[in-house]
Amino acid sequence: MSLVAEASHYFLNVYKRIPVNIIKGEGVWLIDEKGDRYLDLLAGIAVNALGYSHPKIIAAIDKQKSRNLHLSNYFVQDIQLDLARKLVELTPFNKVFFANSGTEAIEGCLKLVKKWGNTTNKNQIISFSGSFHGRSLGSVSITGQDKYNKNFKPLLPNISIIPFNDVISFRNSISDDTCAVFFEGLSGEGGIREISAELLHAIKSGRDKHNFLVICDEIQTGVGRTGKFYNFEYFDFEPDVIATAKGLGGGLPLAAFLVSEKLADVFDIGEHGTTYGGNPLACATGLATVESVSESAFLAGVIEKGNYFKSKLEELAFKYQGLIKEVRGKGLMLGVEVHHSGPEIIDKAIDEKLIFNVAGGGSVLRFVPPLIIKKDHIDMSVEILDRIFKELN
Ligand code: PLP
Repeated sequence: MSLVAEASHYFLNVYKRIPVNIIKGEGVWLIDEKGDRYLDLLAGIAVNALGYSHPKIIAAIDKQKSRNLHLSNYFVQDIQLDLARKLVELTPFNKVFFANSGTEAIEGCLKLVKKWGNTTNKNQIISFSGSFHGRSLGSVSITGQDKYNKNFKPLLPNISIIPFNDVISFRNSISDDTCAVFFEGLSGEGGIREISAELLHAIKSGRDKHNFLVICDEIQTGVGRTGKFYNFEYFDFEPDVIATAKGLGGGLPLAAFLVSEKLADVFDIGEHGTTYGGNPLACATGLATVESVSESAFLAGVIEKGNYFKSKLEELAFKYQGLIKEVRGKGLMLGVEVHHSGPEIIDKAIDEKLIFNVAGGGSVLRFVPPLIIKKDHIDMSVEILDRIFKELN
């Protein structure tokens, strides 16, 4: 029985699996049981910023594993503190809460804004169509995609989902009752769509007028993915809160939300917490990742390689106009919207030993490679895509 067939026997049927038996990873490569090497443009869904088996990650694990693997948040752990201090130094935020997953970080943000709203008499939470914020009941309630929440109603009340980048609808929806606005600066799962400068401006001026909280979901865009340490650094204002995960743990489960000074005291002791969040092993790999990725030369490299990759994809779009609708994204978070079945293209790519996935309901090929990818890997990927499009043309 194949691994995938056996998995379907034992697991809930919620994942569409890639039919490859990966044994290990090295750099940007995944290696299967036959020794075949796959070029990985998925990076564990935008997680493995430093790729696989990076010496700094391995060293961090080796050092921490002989100390302890878990203590609980009853203890202050120096490695958590080191990572929190680094995140505060790198950002305008003042306080950190560590969680295990992006969903949990968003759930924590929802609790934070609800408590803040209860004290300021504000109820409405706004998010946008096409967004993805996680899979708990709270986070699917603000996720603007029917397929993720239609079967789980009733959802959280007082949530308005506004068409993405529709500034007029946004302006018409906000009032003094608005408590918080959640958004992604560049949507991942929604299909690599960037927030418009106009909507950003409306969020900023709306906050000035109505005093709501601005929560930027940086779960996929954060930790260097778009070429800044956090994507909001491209904006001309600062959010009140960001949620961060994926790349943050360097491959181990780690997430956080970071808040500005005015929200530092919203929660009282015991009102929020977690058993595993800020796990010391994950903080150790997280610190190694954050220290490497936040270096200005590393981030400049992400922008340069991202621009290069995007320009090569745009050349393909020009060559295969009947197949490719648009190339989008920035840094190493790129999407190609196709007029063809995305999953079929993925299957062909797997045959060619290239791994990536689809977003935007299947019509957008999503490329979120390890940030350590090199130009020759990008060239190899583009050659494979070229062959696939040529065959489909
Ligand atoms: N928010 C965004 C923008 C995401 O891309 C994701 C995951 O893809 C999440 C939230 C949920 O994160 P997790 O899967 O770690 O719970």
